[in-house]
Amino acid sequence: MKTKTDKLTVLISEGEIRNRCRELAEQIDREYSGDSLTVVIVLKGALMFGSDLIRLLSTPVKFDTISVSSYIGAVSSGTPEFHSQLRLDLTEQHVLIVDDILETGATLNAIVNQFRKSQPLSIRTCVLLRKEISRNINFAADYVGFDIGDDFVVGYGLDYNDDYRNLPCISTLDSTV
Ligand code: 5GP
Ligand code: MG
Repeated sequence: MKTKTDKLTVLISEGEIRNRCRELAEQIDREYSGDSLTVVIVLKGALMFGSDLIRLLSTPVKFDTISVSSYIGAVSSGTPEFHSQLRLDLTEQHVLIVDDILETGATLNAIVNQFRKSQPLSIRTCVLLRKEISRNINFAADYVGFDIGDDFVVGYGLDYNDDYRNLPCISTLDSTV
């Protein structure tokens, strides 16, 4: 629930997200032309982004979800925890992992390393947001929606203690005001 100490400021509007999803889907369709894709949506944060993106793709898609978390409130624990397993077999598939935001890279790095064990044909990653911070982990996403500064953001799937996920836009959250 929004409390009076939480200040939300819109950073990326619903329309901007929609347009960027369309552009990303066009790029993905071009680059996988003739292939089919296994999309893995990282829950819960990428639920909205992933479901919007796959509906815009013309490429034939199977999708699965995986639940991974590393944040408690607005502080990263640094160690991604897997809360679920895939049901689809990734062997000899083109895999596209869809996550909400790339910060340190620890989450996507852990997921990619885990998925490599299944020997897919390829693994790429797509994130809605990328934070402009210096990353200790050398990890680059293949598809990026928006570059943002080092603010804590919520909305469109992203949460603060599980609140605000249903906001249609991305907002910065300042809980100290
Ligand atoms: P990384 O593992 O790259 O450091 O962080 C990625 C994960 O941390 C994201 O999938 C997301 O769940 C969470 N995260 C990182 N930055 C933010 C943020 O600004 N807001 C929210 N709500 N989650 C974030
Ligand atoms: Mg996440």
